[in-house]
Amino acid sequence: MARKYTSKINKIRTFALSLVFVGFIIMYLGIFFRTNIWIMTIFMLLGMLSIIASTVVYFWIGMLSTRAVQVICPTCEKPTKILGRVDMCMHCKEPLTLDKELEGKEFDENYNRKNIKV
Ligand SMILES: [Zn+2]
Repeated sequence: MARKYTSKINKIRTFALSLVFVGFIIMYLGIFFRTNIWIMTIFMLLGMLSIIASTVVYFWIGMLSTRAVQVICPTCEKPTKILGRVDMCMHCKEPLTLDKELEGKEFDENYNRKNIKV
């Protein structure tokens, strides 16, 4: 079973971006209901909420980024950020770890959970 991993910060960023799009789509749909001011208002509000939520998520990424450890990826030699015990390089998807115990082990996102049995 091959699962695709991406860097956590990238994942959250994609989520925030999709929220913006969803917000605009909802607002656009609202235009079709302009004969009913209430339905249109509800659509507009939902769209606005979605865009506000994405702003919050972007803010959250900013907070996470300051907590993440910046390292130079050994494979592509670009600076990347590690969040949690294991994460992926943002550029070449190289699994990286800060934990010496996990070095050389197969990449597993479960290492980020607490109470793990290695
Ligand atoms: Zn890399």
